[in-house]
Amino acid sequence: MRGERTLYQRILFAISGLIAFTTVIILTNVWVSTTEHARNQMAHELNTAKNVAARVLQNRANQLRNSALVLTADFGFKQAVATQDAATITSALNNHGQRINADLMALFSSDGRLIAKNTQSQEEDFSAISSHIISAFSQRAASTTVVLNERIYQVIFLTVDAPRPIAVTMIGFELTTPFLEELKSITQLEHAFSLNQDEQQNIINSTLAGIAQNQLVQPSSINWFEVVLLRRAIFAFQSVSLSASDGGASLLMIQDVQSVYAGFWQLQLQITAIAVLCLILALSVALRIAKRITHPIRQLVKQSQLVANGKYDNAMPLNSGATEVTQLTNAFNQMQSNVQKRETEIRFQAERDRLTGLLNRSALDTHLNNRINEGKEFSVFAIKINRFRNINDVFGYQAGDQYLQHVAKRLATLTDCLVSRIGGGEYIVIPDSAKALSTATLITLIKQPLILNQVEIVPSLSVAKISVPEQADNTEAVLRRLDITLDNCNANQLDYLHYRADFEDHYLYRLNVISELKQALANDTQQFSLLYQPKLSTRSGTCEAAEALLRWNNPKLGFIGPDIFIPLAEQSGLIHQLTFWVVQQVLVDQQTLIANDIHINIAINLSAQDLLNRDVVDRLINLVDKAQLGPQRISFELTESDLISDADLAIENMTMLRDAGFSLAIDDFGTGYSSLAYLRNMPVNTLKIDKSFVLKLDERLTDQKIVQTIIQLAHSFDLQVVAEGVETWQSQEALQDWGCEYIQGYYISRPIKCDDLALWLKQQKDQYDFSS
Ligand code: C2E
Ligand code: CA
Ligand code: CA
Repeated sequence: MRGERTLYQRILFAISGLIAFTTVIILTNVWVSTTEHARNQMAHELNTAKNVAARVLQNRANQLRNSALVLTADFGFKQAVATQDAATITSALNNHGQRINADLMALFSSDGRLIAKNTQSQEEDFSAISSHIISAFSQRAASTTVVLNERIYQVIFLTVDAPRPIAVTMIGFELTTPFLEELKSITQLEHAFSLNQDEQQNIINSTLAGIAQNQLVQPSSINWFEVVLLRRAIFAFQSVSLSASDGGASLLMIQDVQSVYAGFWQLQLQITAIAVLCLILALSVALRIAKRITHPIRQLVKQSQLVANGKYDNAMPLNSGATEVTQLTNAFNQMQSNVQKRETEIRFQAERDRLTGLLNRSALDTHLNNRINEGKEFSVFAIKINRFRNINDVFGYQAGDQYLQHVAKRLATLTDCLVSRIGGGEYIVIPDSAKALSTATLITLIKQPLILNQVEIVPSLSVAKISVPEQADNTEAVLRRLDITLDNCNANQLDYLHYRADFEDHYLYRLNVISELKQALANDTQQFSLLYQPKLSTRSGTCEAAEALLRWNNPKLGFIGPDIFIPLAEQSGLIHQLTFWVVQQVLVDQQTLIANDIHINIAINLSAQDLLNRDVVDRLINLVDKAQLGPQRISFELTESDLISDADLAIENMTMLRDAGFSLAIDDFGTGYSSLAYLRNMPVNTLKIDKSFVLKLDERLTDQKIVQTIIQLAHSFDLQVVAEGVETWQSQEALQDWGCEYIQGYYISRPIKCDDLALWLKQQKDQYDFSS
């Protein structure tokens, strides 16, 4: 802000101002008083000189008088005056005048008329002093100073008595420079005479050469400013009026002011120098004080600017001296560390995933971006917990969280790696260098069994890897391509894949599939067809049921398996339309079979999305109801892992279906995480053991044990068991031995067209006659 002073300036101005003010006051005082003193001294000296001059004049007057007395007492002279003998008088005046070296010797009559004068006297006209003469006659003697012809004389008048006064003699000495020099020698002061000429006072004689009237001043009116600063040559004077009446002559006592002041000037100079020194000293002290006070404050300002910019590294040093400043510094440091702590906390919270403490998605984006900008090559791993949602659903969210934390903890042990959780069960690991982490190490680490809810499970995880920037050069592409790679792992049931460009093609292919599927459902359902795969009863050896399996032959994409397009239909919201098409087709085919006197139950695969939608379930019941076939001809297969995302709603809708008379089977049993105990609450009557346990049943002992156990447990819950994927005679035998109610698989029949099913049913009646 303009006009605003810093604290430093304020303190400096305040202290130095105060000191300067004090100094000026003292200096002025010293100057004024020394000036006053000088003036007084001058006045005093002039006064003394005045007295001296008066005394000297008096002494001279006395001498004159004595010498005049000698003359007037001389009998011859008296006689000559009485007889008016002019020649004798003049001679006497001459002689006497010579003897005493007088400048004026004259004799006057009682009326002031000149009677005689000596020859040395230059003056001719004494009219100017006639009044003096007349008054002297009456007083018989007088001593005075007169001005004649602009010359000053000290004169003595004395009457010539015979015995009465008959005349007046005058003896005079001119007062000139020698007289002044005499005074000067006594008083050490300059002297001068001044005369009033033409209405103004002029100096006529002086011991000081070249002095002018205007240089003279009364001591009382000496201006110290003129003397000290302007250094004008001026002179103090005291005057004694010698003859006020005639000519206005004065004797002047003169003192050179500068010379008087010179002594004081020295003193004043010294004092001034000391004052200036003090001022400088005080200023430097003020500077130091101001610095000492403001330095820590300025430091604090700097520090707070640093803090404002997020730099908390340095604390302020505490050695500032003043208690208040130390307290302020202390408080500031405290505040700084609190702010830092809080910011660290906030940053931690902003960057971290609450559950696992790993970096979150936005922090990952930032780091990944920075790494990419560095321009060096590096790898990024994505790790995904397979079917994580199911874990949450089956074991509960707490166990799900624990699972995530377990995996996070393991990943966190990786050194020189950046680890982040970006969502559900998905993690990203970025090694600092290629050496920091190998794929094998990563897979071994995460595949270790872990304990969840006191149950040991082997984590099912997929790992994807991508090389940056070779395979993706921006954050978005890196994460998207890793996602595609993970999808690919899933689709191919692989633990690990390094990204390849053709995965992207696969991704595009799936987009294509979705768009073709949409078109086919809207315009051309001819592309769809149903195959039926029989289920054989191990007890009766007859076929009492078959499963409807959807086929799709697209003119552009060719034949596409349900394993590919069903999940895509689910993802794109097309699954309900597909399900309705299947149900309607099954109802049509059932009419055909019935017409052929074939009475079997046909199982329809329902997607979880169908089951979890109340409207879809209502519509399904309605459709079958309208066909008037009776619910015992239709059953539904539900994949257990999909159901548990909303188990309550699933159970509610399953109950509706069962109450409507449909039987329900749990499909693909054994692949998910659910347990039989969990299924007890579900209104199902059949379990379908997943084909992965059955396909290699004759070779694998573990599969045999699993299948046997499932069958036993299912029976203990009053559930019937279907085994799918029966490809060999041995498998069929075993399942039959273990009490599995139904078998289904290529050994019995591949999925076949409805027309072929009718044929097949007729033939197999003879081939598999278990009753015999
Ligand atoms: P799924 O319900 O488990 O069907 C059994 C699958 O196993 C069928 O494959 C079938 O052809 C195959 N299979 C049967 N016996 C054997 C055998 O002995 N050996 C081998 N290796 N495979 C055997 P498909 O037809 O490709 O169907 C795959 C999956 O697509 C089905 O699995 C089901 O989940 C889904 N799907 C098929 N049709 C539909 C449908 O109409 N609606 C719904 N929602 N899903 C369907
Ligand atoms: Ca099925
Ligand atoms: Ca199945």
